[in-house]
Amino acid sequence: MKISQQRFDRSDIRQFNTLSVLNQICRKGALSRAQIASELGLTRATVSKITLDLLDASFLAETRLTEGGAGRPGMLLNLNAAYGCMVAVEIDLDRVSIAVADFSRTIFWREEKRLKPDASAGASLRSIAGLIDAALAAGAARQLRCLGIGVAWAGLVAHDEGLLVYGPSSGWKDIRLKTLWEDRFDVPVYVENEANAAAIACQHLDNHPQEADLIYLSLGSGLAAGLISEGRLLRGRMGFAGQVGHVPFSNNGITCSCGRKGCWVTEIGSAAVLRKLAGQGMPPLDDASCGKDPLQQVLEKALSREAAVWQVLIEVGQQLALGAAQLVHALNPATLVIGGRLGQLFKLVEAEMRESLDALALPGMLADFKFQVSASGEDPLFGCLAIVHDAVLNDPSNFTVETSKPSQ
Ligand SMILES: [Zn+2]
Repeated sequence: MKISQQRFDRSDIRQFNTLSVLNQICRKGALSRAQIASELGLTRATVSKITLDLLDASFLAETRLTEGGAGRPGMLLNLNAAYGCMVAVEIDLDRVSIAVADFSRTIFWREEKRLKPDASAGASLRSIAGLIDAALAAGAARQLRCLGIGVAWAGLVAHDEGLLVYGPSSGWKDIRLKTLWEDRFDVPVYVENEANAAAIACQHLDNHPQEADLIYLSLGSGLAAGLISEGRLLRGRMGFAGQVGHVPFSNNGITCSCGRKGCWVTEIGSAAVLRKLAGQGMPPLDDASCGKDPLQQVLEKALSREAAVWQVLIEVGQQLALGAAQLVHALNPATLVIGGRLGQLFKLVEAEMRESLDALALPGMLADFKFQVSASGEDPLFGCLAIVHDAVLNDPSNFTVETSKPSQ
């Protein structure tokens, strides 16, 4: 069945109400028509008409009967998982993570692959494209067409153009990834800075506070911030806002991957953690020592209560809090989330970091302030899924499909 653009353009109010119904179901999950009407302040008749259109368009599916209910009024409406699949790709300096989710945002396939940090951009992107082929095949095996590919990348991203302008860690420059992969895969491609993607995930995930004013500090080999102010992502003039890892921070004399000395990331990034551990006399932790991710080795040592590791984590946590306090004073967020690949490590010293922040902030600055360390390391991936999902839901007229109504 074709989704008719005319159907969604019948009036602005109708379109607004349609998006409101979709967004409500996205945020809350399965709802009855009566619940939707009550929560949005719409009439039952309006909700019935809108949901009928959305069921016809296969965006929604009726799932199960409510307790004690019978017949159509008791049916719950939810996103139709079979509407299509979405691919999320997180590209880091030395690895790529890929996940495929159905339209209800349930991940059913994922893969991770190590990348050679010194490989050329072309070689790395060819390797990643091969993995995306496998992801698309996993969707096709479930008869799910791909609705889009969301990509999170650490560096300066010209979001509208899908252009990777510069990666301070990788050194990649001027790569038109959106054009390259839309030609290659023939589906829409959305490219976002990975900290921005993680911040977007916070607006969509149940286990994160859905705050209108939020800072997400993404920490791994690099460091960047996703900044949400008054409910909107702060991008700045060229879209590069949030590159806080490369602000001058220390007189440590250490050369950053960007070529400058003393950037904030040289005190708190993964290389800094490993360097400081070596300074405590710990043998170098690298792949060659046991074939395991060095950060995983640090985590295992921390969990086995090695004192030197805890000393380093607390020291690095203080440096993290010092920079974070500057961001908090500049932007006055309701919530600060620290995540990324180092999230698991810093979860161990969450209380100490909060104490440091409290000591550094002006009186009143942290009233009702929430501080959270996200240990999942998957926020950018979920952000990518949210970006594709929003693109579909916010502009359904872009998607003409031949599909039958979902089975009841
Ligand atoms: Zn730098």
